[in-house]
Amino acid sequence: MAKKKIYEGKTKKLYETDNENELVIEFKNDVPCLDEESRITIRNKGAINNSISCHLFRYLSSYHITTHFIRQISNKEMLVKKLEMIPLQVITRNIASGNLVKRYGLEEGKELECPVIEFYLKSVQVEDPLINKDHIVAFGHASSDELKEIHRTSSKVNVILEDFFRRRKLRVIDFKLEFGRLGDRIVVGDELGFDNFTFLDLETNKKLSVESLSGEKEEMCKIYQKINELVMQ
Ligand code: ADP
Repeated sequence: MAKKKIYEGKTKKLYETDNENELVIEFKNDVPCLDEESRITIRNKGAINNSISCHLFRYLSSYHITTHFIRQISNKEMLVKKLEMIPLQVITRNIASGNLVKRYGLEEGKELECPVIEFYLKSVQVEDPLINKDHIVAFGHASSDELKEIHRTSSKVNVILEDFFRRRKLRVIDFKLEFGRLGDRIVVGDELGFDNFTFLDLETNKKLSVESLSGEKEEMCKIYQKINELVMQ
């Protein structure tokens, strides 16, 4: 397949294909969220996140969630429908952790009365700030109806994935989705690899997320591998 690189982000590269409606997403081995100096790469991380993403996209499709996923084309690449991306990171939270704890002074690990869905603006000028629905509509990033659809889909995905991972002895503390437009439809885009999740390991009671790993390569490798094995069960 002929490919032309059109974008390189922190963890993925995008390529145009012969078909203008499709893109190839290649997963890199770089670990996100670390400062530039301590930037590290992990062998097989790209392949593992691709494998987890492809599996979860297929799983969501079986529950009639519309996603951009077409098929896995190699160990590090998936073929997707090209979307007009909405510049938001949509975080769904079931348990208080990280950011939420710092911002509202909650107790780490507190079970939330109901899931909380938050929007963060993806921005190069400012550091991805929390943003509310009025801002999003007023700034022209998405319409009110589109936001309702994003909210509804995030809630559904949460129920589906919570159950999926609970059967694998992991609680979903929180996870991130990105959405885009395909014609007049709102579609789940981007990826669903380990970097998008914070889990509670129900066997060890330890938090598992990219941020909570020590930065020690061997340990990180093992965690990525463990999550992949659980997903594939
Ligand atoms: P970042 O841009 O945050 O550094 P990545 O390394 O994850 O992130 O780069 C992937 C980019 O591809 C993101 O900007 C994401 O919004 C975009 N993207 C994901 N899926 C699609 C799609 N189906 N169509 C177009 N763009 C997409």
